[in-house]
Amino acid sequence: MDGDAKEEIVKLFIEGSGETFGWLEENWDFQFLDNMFAFYDVHGWPLWTMYNDKTMTSKDLAYANSMEMAKAMNEKNDYMTELTATKLFKDDEGNVIGVEAEYYDGTIYQIYADSVIIAAGGYIGSAEMTQKYTGGGLDVDTDMHLLKEDGTPVENVYIVGNDSLGTLNESNKAYVTYGGCAQGWALTSGRLAGANAAAAFAG
Ligand SMILES: Cc1cc2nc3c(=O)[nH]c(=O)nc-3n(C[C@H](O)[C@H](O)[C@H](O)COP(=O)(O)OP(=O)(O)OC[C@H]3O[C@@H](n4cnc5c(N)ncnc54)[C@H](O)[C@@H]3O)c2cc1C
Repeated sequence: MDGDAKEEIVKLFIEGSGETFGWLEENWDFQFLDNMFAFYDVHGWPLWTMYNDKTMTSKDLAYANSMEMAKAMNEKNDYMTELTATKLFKDDEGNVIGVEAEYYDGTIYQIYADSVIIAAGGYIGSAEMTQKYTGGGLDVDTDMHLLKEDGTPVENVYIVGNDSLGTLNESNKAYVTYGGCAQGWALTSGRLAGANAAAAFAG
């Protein structure tokens, strides 16, 4: 492979994306459309990029309904909007033990957790900012663990979606130009990180 994309991450994406889309359809309120041919791809490769909820109403419903389905599975499951994570919350030894966050009304939450998955969307498509602040996207291993500068993983912190998208690309290019790839990676990396975090929690 040319460039300095992480080969094992590209492989993980290619091998894991089909399974992820199947998982979204079988378990959650996602419905993918038939293959579509991308008009922006000169090779005419079929890309499978379009999806909605199962009533084919909207993408937003696919996410909102799926979150409600997850919430209904366990009384402890929950999600909140208008809550901005401000920093990772650490113990005296520096281990990550949760997230500090501010609600829209100023209330500060300290949320304790065994694992933290960071999915904050990178810098909204700014390759320049992503390069400046994260060196092209936060580095991850194939378990989606955040890697420290020395290459060792932070075992209970996972990075997904655009926050880690640079690992699929060459330096100075944090975002892919092929439609479908960015969301495909967000969904695939999110599923993998969630499964790994759950497995680590279960021991
Ligand atoms: C107009 C447009 C069209 C696009 N079309 C396509 C397409 O056709 N195909 C494709 O593959 N991709 C497309 N993309 C790109 C795709 O939407 C993104 O790559 C994808 O949504 C990235 O997913 P993500 O989960 O990493 O981040 P996001 O979807 O950006 O989600 C990040 C979330 O984190 C929240 N957040 C950020 N900081 C904090 C914080 N501190 N505390 C709490 N929450 C926080 C944000 O509010 C946001 O809700 C498009 C993007 C745009 C803008």
